[in-house]
Amino acid sequence: METTGVVVVGGGPAGMVAGLLLARAGVEVTVLEKHGDFLRDFRGDTVHASTLTLLDELGLGPSFSEVPHQLVDRMQVLLDSGPQTMADLSRLPGPHKHIAFVPQWDFLDLLADAGKREPTFTLRMNTEFTGLVRKNGKVTGVRYRTAGGETGELASDLVIAADGRSSPVREQAGLPVHEFGAPMDVWWFRVPRNPDEPSGGTGRFSRGQGLVLINRGDYFQCAYLIRKGTDRQLRAEGIEAFRQRMADLVPWLAERMETVESLDDVKLLDVKLDRLRRWHGDGVLCIGDAAHAMSPIGGVGINLAVQDAVAAATIVAAPLRRGELSPKVLAKVRRRRWFPTAATQAFQRRIQDSFLKPTLTGTSTIAQGKVPSVIRLIRRFPRLQVVPGYLVAIGLRPEHAPAFARRAPERIERS
Ligand SMILES: Cc1cc2nc3c(=O)[nH]c(=O)nc-3n(C[C@H](O)[C@H](O)[C@H](O)COP(=O)(O)OP(=O)(O)OC[C@H]3O[C@@H](n4cnc5c(N)ncnc54)[C@H](O)[C@@H]3O)c2cc1C
Repeated sequence: METTGVVVVGGGPAGMVAGLLLARAGVEVTVLEKHGDFLRDFRGDTVHASTLTLLDELGLGPSFSEVPHQLVDRMQVLLDSGPQTMADLSRLPGPHKHIAFVPQWDFLDLLADAGKREPTFTLRMNTEFTGLVRKNGKVTGVRYRTAGGETGELASDLVIAADGRSSPVREQAGLPVHEFGAPMDVWWFRVPRNPDEPSGGTGRFSRGQGLVLINRGDYFQCAYLIRKGTDRQLRAEGIEAFRQRMADLVPWLAERMETVESLDDVKLLDVKLDRLRRWHGDGVLCIGDAAHAMSPIGGVGINLAVQDAVAAATIVAAPLRRGELSPKVLAKVRRRRWFPTAATQAFQRRIQDSFLKPTLTGTSTIAQGKVPSVIRLIRRFPRLQVVPGYLVAIGLRPEHAPAFARRAPERIERS
């Protein structure tokens, strides 16, 4: 059997950050990613202010700045009563007063290139986790299968599940999940954008519909909110009905909806909001979406996944090196990350229940031309715009790189 110190299952934001940090601590780490590359359309493409600070601390700031990206420093909603800025990031503390929009594969490639410089870091693409190996009830490694059909076992002191919201590892570990439910799913699509059109993120809510437009330079990444479980029914209505709905909601988008050639260009996100009651078992630890799938509200899933990874690496690195890793140590990761996760999910559930659900069922007072109380409050006291800006861009309890992972700023060679 092959051996390594830590197996990280999943090369998403959580897995790649955890892998890089542990390797910088001198721990032998192997990241298994089932896909052959990081290319995915319509994945979260946000790199938040707190993650940008983390990249600086890791010495990766100069390399990140060379990756083409857009910076967003405010978010607004367009109601029938007019536009309203909801989140202002320009007054955030710290050097990064914005969120960067970067294709997720560029962000992950950068982390992979940084990892390759560490002698104890191995990334195995095209390698799928297929099962946990146990000895006397303790997880002692994983089984895997490569795209070429080879199978094998990899023994380790710890398995980190960073395999996303359908995590096969957490399922095999038998960790109970609490589902909170969500009233909506999301249709993702893109339309061309002209330079003079809204920058930042813009939400449009009216007559039982909601659409969020995210500036991606020459196009808008669009998130159309649909009632949970209505994907099939809406697809059956056809592309013309969809184009018409978008034209009713945002008339200036009408003509360019022709660029959405068919509903095959529209991807469904089945929204989930859940959280593990326990994030670890003996020899296994869940982080990121594997521990808590976030609603897309606020676009905070990547940030929380990255912050979990930093906390996990910081907590387990020294015990791993000393050979003293125990379930007690693993439990500390959940204790550290529970508050920011639970508080953010509570905030998302409040928005779901008080705003999105009534909007999507047509029972919102917005439909009668009324402005929601939270928007009235922000209109009256514009300085409050910094609060949602902080929650989205930095988040509660931002994590910082541990001393062992810090490096001087450097442009790393990109593959
Ligand atoms: C369409 C969409 C849009 C989103 N938009 C945003 C946004 O704008 N901002 C934001 O912050 N968040 C957004 N999110 C959420 C965000 O993408 C996630 O919260 C974040 O990626 C979680 O990171 P993670 O590393 O925990 O998991 P993931 O990013 O899901 O990564 C898990 C990785 O594990 C791999 N994997 C799974 N199973 C196996 C296996 N058996 N063996 C090996 N590898 C495996 C997967 O291929 C994947 O690479 C969006 C999500 C979706 C689906």
